[in-house]
Amino acid sequence: NVAVSLRGVTKTYDNGVVALGPIDLEVRRGEFVSLLGPSGCGKSTALRLIAGLGTPSSGTVRVARTAVEANGGHAVGFVFQEPTLMPWTTVRENVRLPLRLAHVPLSSANARVDQALAQVGLSEFANAYPRELSGGMKMRVSLARALVTDPDILLMDEPFAALDEITRFRLNNDLLALWRSLRKTVIFVTHSVFESVYLSQRVVVMTSRPGRIATEISIEATEPRG
Ligand code: ADP
Ligand code: ADP
Repeated sequence: NVAVSLRGVTKTYDNGVVALGPIDLEVRRGEFVSLLGPSGCGKSTALRLIAGLGTPSSGTVRVARTAVEANGGHAVGFVFQEPTLMPWTTVRENVRLPLRLAHVPLSSANARVDQALAQVGLSEFANAYPRELSGGMKMRVSLARALVTDPDILLMDEPFAALDEITRFRLNNDLLALWRSLRKTVIFVTHSVFESVYLSQRVVVMTSRPGRIATEISIEATEPRG
């Protein structure tokens, strides 16, 4: 039951930089996988290709189609390192944005927004503005915005890298709890060994020039952790 598969994927950017390849990667439905490696090894490139933001230079990228998608939803949710929130409007409006873009009716959209805010522990802050929130809370808003379309696959690109260690550790634990209850497929890009081993069932280790998969480490046997 495969959620994402990359076969012989390479990516050469227009400027001639060979960012990836070739790489082969298969992610099962419900699996939590980390892509670990130094800056420039192609982690973000791989994630963007999975998200459909750009096309591979060769090879194939397959993302399992979902019922969500047939209903105008998103197959994947994306969380960037920068929360990229709209500063002029509330937390609620920021989280509702993907539903507005998908023309989801207001009443069901509001229910979904409430649910997503509850999932990230921000129900109390629905009417707050981004400037009133800490870095960790902004990241929670960004996560809620990715979850609000109920995607099967969550792609996260160094989401916690800019946060202080305590906040980062809290978010790691909350993300794990969310994953255990929602059982979404998560592909998590990080250059933190700690984070990759702590969070994921499998660590895919990448090397650079060009970005390749060096090895994969399965740590599933350490489950359950909590
Ligand atoms: P990572 O996420 O592991 O840091 P990236 O996927 O961002 O790696 O980058 C891989 C390589 O591709 C790097 O050498 C980077 O400079 C280059 N690169 C990334 N994005 C672009 C782009 N849009 N245009 C040209 N080169 C890029
Ligand atoms: P590097 O950039 O050298 O790979 P890391 O990304 O591993 O460094 O870590 C950067 C900082 O964040 C370090 O101070 C590290 O202790 C801290 N850190 C890394 N992962 C976590 C985590 N999951 N929770 C809390 N702090 C972390």
